[in-house]
Amino acid sequence: MTDCIFCKIVNGEIPSNKVFEDEVSYAFRDINPQAPVHILIVPKKHVESCAVLGAEDEALVGKIFTNIAKIAKDEGLEKGFRVISNSGDDAGQTVHHLHFHILAGKAMGEGLVP
Ligand code: AMP
Ligand code: ZN
Repeated sequence: MTDCIFCKIVNGEIPSNKVFEDEVSYAFRDINPQAPVHILIVPKKHVESCAVLGAEDEALVGKIFTNIAKIAKDEGLEKGFRVISNSGDDAGQTVHHLHFHILAGKAMGEGLVP
């Protein structure tokens, strides 16, 4: 996708604060952090959102979650972290390239929806 911000971050056209990278995924710090630790992890291939995932993406999503565990360990998030993926308008998705927010560094309580 030529006009996708996260594709441009993955291919280096737009700078980012990289946290982790492997052959299928790329993680970087959110430009507008909503918690002391706010990292995004995205697949390197353009996938619009969770809504369009298919059987062919199962290994990719599994790998992303294993990488989330690795990142949490490296970032010292022993006290906990939250993973969120917004899909579609009602969820408030603004960048239409699948991404998982990793939020940590403060007590977030039990409520999920403001
Ligand atoms: P969402 O609302 O779930 O689609 O989240 C998109 C996220 O991408 C927001 O938290 C933005 O702050 C973040 N974001 C947008 N542009 C950039 C960028 N160039 N570098 C890092 N994070 C970004
Ligand atoms: Zn993209």
